[in-house]
Amino acid sequence: MKIALAQFIFESNTFNSVPAALELFTQRGTWVVGEPAVRAWCATADSQMAGSLAVLDAAGCETHPVFVTKCGTPAGRLSEACFAAIRNQLCASLRAALPADVVIMHLHGAACALGEDDVEGALLEAVRRELGFDGRLVLSLDLHANITQRMLTHADAITAYRTMPHTDFHATGERAARLALDSGPTRRTLAKIAVLIPPTDTHDATGRFAAILGEARHLEQLPGVLDVSVFPVQPWMDVEEMGTSIVVTGRPDAVVRAPVEELARHWYAQRVEWQTGLQSWEKIIATLRRRGARPWMLVDTADATTGGAEGTSAEAVVRLWPLRHELPGDVLLWVVDPVARAAAERGARSFPVGSQHATVAGEVIFKGEANFRARGRAYTGMEFSLGPTVVVAAGCLRIVISEGGALCADPAFYECVGLQPEQALAVQVKSFMGWRAGYDAPAEVGLAFDGPGAASLNFARLPFTGPRRELFPLNPAPAEPISLWQSN
Ligand SMILES: [Zn+2]
Repeated sequence: MKIALAQFIFESNTFNSVPAALELFTQRGTWVVGEPAVRAWCATADSQMAGSLAVLDAAGCETHPVFVTKCGTPAGRLSEACFAAIRNQLCASLRAALPADVVIMHLHGAACALGEDDVEGALLEAVRRELGFDGRLVLSLDLHANITQRMLTHADAITAYRTMPHTDFHATGERAARLALDSGPTRRTLAKIAVLIPPTDTHDATGRFAAILGEARHLEQLPGVLDVSVFPVQPWMDVEEMGTSIVVTGRPDAVVRAPVEELARHWYAQRVEWQTGLQSWEKIIATLRRRGARPWMLVDTADATTGGAEGTSAEAVVRLWPLRHELPGDVLLWVVDPVARAAAERGARSFPVGSQHATVAGEVIFKGEANFRARGRAYTGMEFSLGPTVVVAAGCLRIVISEGGALCADPAFYECVGLQPEQALAVQVKSFMGWRAGYDAPAEVGLAFDGPGAASLNFARLPFTGPRRELFPLNPAPAEPISLWQSN
C-alpha cells in the first residue's frame, strides 16, 4: 500500500485583523519540504506525522511524507499570498507523490484566509479536484476545528486530538494511520451544536469535558463505528457553519444517528454550568502578596496567542506596575511591541508599552534574538521564535518585550531570555490551558483574567455577525440547538 502524507497546522482568530504572512511559517514556525527533510524533522519533534509514520512503516507500507508546515503561533486570517503559497506547496508536494492508495492530511480545522472561511475544506477539495485523487483520504484535526460539510464530503475518515491541553499529537497520527489501513467504505455523520464553550472549561482529564470524551469512547464501541471525534470549536471565528461538533466515521450501514444526537443533547445540556474561570484583579493581587509552593500563573486569556490574539496587551503590566516594589518575588511578564522593544534597545529611559501605552522605565537586562525549543509536555521539541527581544527589569517586574508573538506556555520561553520561571513569584502566560501541560502545573495556581484582546472569554464583547449571533451564549436559547448531517 502506497501512502502520501502532508501536515499543515494553523489556527485563525478572525477578530485579529492583522493578516498572517508566510514568514509566520518559514521564519517563526516550521516549513519542511521533501521526504528526507520531513523524516529528519519527525525524529526531533512530537507530531501527528511521526505517529502516522510509526504505524505505517511498521505495517510495511510505502510511505511518502512530503511536506510539513506549522505556524509559530495562531494569528489572524492568512494573507492571500500566504494561503496561495501554502496551497501551492502542499499540492505540488502531493502531486509528485501520486499516484497513491491513500493520502493522509494532518490539518488543524480552524484556519481561515482572506476570502476563504474554510481553508481546510478548500485544501481537501483541491486534492480531489485539482490533483484528481480518488483514493482514500484520511484527515486528522485539532479538537478546536470548525467542521464543515465540505471537509466531510472530501475526507473518507476523520480523527482528532483527544487531549486538552493538546499532548496527543503522536497518538492522533497513529489513529489516522489505522484509518488509512482500513479499506472499507465509510459514511461521516456530523452533529452541530449551536454553542461556544470557554476553552478554560474543557480539560480532558477532569470535569464536564472529560465526561463528554468518555461518552465518545463509549459510542465508538457501537458496531460499524471507526472513530468518534468531538470538537469544542475555537470560539473566535466569525465564519460560516460555526459551531461545536461531533463527527462519527463509520460504515455506511452503522446505526449512529440516534446515539450521536443523544451525545449532542448531553453536551448541550452542560451549557448552564460552563465557567470561564476569570478572576478579579483585586483577588489576583491579594493572591500575589504571598508566595505559593510553586509560581502562580498569570493567565491572560483575552490576549492569548494560543487563541490567535496578537499578544500586544500590557494589562498585567498596568495592574502590577504600582506594586513593583511590594510583591514578594519576581513577576515575569510578556508584551509584543516592536516599537517599545526598539526604544528599550536604543536606551530610552522610559517609553510606552503595549496596546494600553503603559509607561515603563527600568534597566534592560537582556537584548537579542529569542528562540526556544519547547521542553514541557506540549509541543515538545518544537522550535519557536519571538524575534528580537528585550527584557526590562523594574522592581520585581521582568517585562519581556518582543518583536513577534509565539506559543508561550512553556518554561523555555522565559529561560531563553535568561529568566528563571521556576524561581519566580508569578509567570504570565497568554494561553488558556496549554500552560498546564507546558509547566506541568495544577489548575489551582492559575490566576485567569480578562483584558483587551481578540480572544476574550466574554464572547458577547466580540463583534460576531449574522448567524453567529444565534450561538449560545450570545443567544441564551438558540432556535435550533442541534442539527444532524450525513455524507453520502
Ligand atoms: Zn487546539
